[in-house]
Amino acid sequence: MGPACDDEVVLKGMIEAGMDVARINMSHGSIEEGLERFHRVRRLSEECGRRVGILVDLPGPKVRCATFGDEYVRLVPGSTVELRVGNETSTAEIIEVNYEGLVTDVQIGDRLNMGDGRAILEITEKQPDKLLANVAHGGKISGRPGIHVPSDRLRISTPTPEDLVILDAFVAVGVDMVALSFVRSAHEVRRVGTEPHPRGPLIVAKIETRAAVENLEGIIEASGAVMVARGDLGNELPLEDLPVLQKEIISKCIALGRPAITATQMLESMIESPAPTRAETSDVANAVWDGSSVVMLSGETAVGADPINVVRTMGRIARRADEEFDHNRWARRIAELRMTSETDTDASVTDAMTMAAWRATAELGVKTIVAVSSSGFTVRSMARFRPEATILGFSTNLNTVNQLSLSWGTIPVALPPHVSSNEEMADEAVRTAKELGHVATGELVAVLAGASSSSLSANVLRLVRVG
Ligand code: PEP
Repeated sequence: MGPACDDEVVLKGMIEAGMDVARINMSHGSIEEGLERFHRVRRLSEECGRRVGILVDLPGPKVRCATFGDEYVRLVPGSTVELRVGNETSTAEIIEVNYEGLVTDVQIGDRLNMGDGRAILEITEKQPDKLLANVAHGGKISGRPGIHVPSDRLRISTPTPEDLVILDAFVAVGVDMVALSFVRSAHEVRRVGTEPHPRGPLIVAKIETRAAVENLEGIIEASGAVMVARGDLGNELPLEDLPVLQKEIISKCIALGRPAITATQMLESMIESPAPTRAETSDVANAVWDGSSVVMLSGETAVGADPINVVRTMGRIARRADEEFDHNRWARRIAELRMTSETDTDASVTDAMTMAAWRATAELGVKTIVAVSSSGFTVRSMARFRPEATILGFSTNLNTVNQLSLSWGTIPVALPPHVSSNEEMADEAVRTAKELGHVATGELVAVLAGASSSSLSANVLRLVRVG
């Protein structure tokens, strides 16, 4: 979300074009502006009759330059610039940076990347109150660009006290997901301190530091979902490592039943252009084939020329890529990779049942899987297998339903809370699926649910003809 889609007609157009989740990036704008965007998305998604999950993205310890102003300022290659702590203004000669530890933590020889690669500064000298840097790669800079201080130099950790203030404001209005920036360990994910999902928001760990890549499994296990945040990740690690890491991170997430978001510069040229570059088109398709649950847009819709066109374009590329997705090969690999819990029997029952559901639906050519879930775990487990069937993710818990907007191939549907037994709930789910036009009379569907209200796992799989 951003100024380019604050207009209600534009936002409605994006929802109708297929937007499943709205990200409110709190690196920009005030809490009030963020909350205004939150309420606008909630209201319009209701009006459009399409469920849109809302993700608040906490800035974390993001270091930024003071503003260069609205006009572009040119950093000349080979010139020397001064870096000081401050938050007033930056020029081509003196750049102010909002990090108190700048002069102590940054070392001679460090290369600081500005504005996701638009300029690179090489630190040449340290003085008591400033750093001197050579402009190794120059470029045009405007606004308040981020300046990347290597995360292992930073003393502040995530979530920051400012993050927790933002989080409180969004939890109070019932945000569905929260993204944590610059995570380095599972401990930091646990420090978020909200109630576990679905009561609290689903925590999305952004993988964008070297330490996060090193502690990947622990971070994934402590999180509800993961984002491959390629912008900052590309500042921390060699760019040529990114495509490999993208595949590895997605693969580990999916094996553990966590949705994986692939993010940043996916259709970057569409900030200005009406059509993407050929390379961007391939990037979106390849992200789908890598197994991404979600592909994300940032500046393209937040400040771009035509946000509706961008969402439509991404939808078209993703749908075409989906048509070629090798479901069988993926599911066989997950069946090998899946990490059955040895200690959590409920999780391992769901794990086995979702695998059985994948096999049965593939063998019988079933087109719809009705999964009834209270926390969303069953639906996410099912989605791991990337079945050719559409997954209808039903829950009586509205938080769960909204959080399922992040799951691959899933249409989230709310069930009325008055349904009592699980048996009744499964029947109601099939009836609702028919009413909504997702299944037709006589069609064979797979229904996955718990046997009773005390079931903590999906322990019943039925194959039924819709009456
Ligand atoms: C990224 O760094 O790729 C990212 C998604 O984070 P942000 O948009 O907050 O910079």
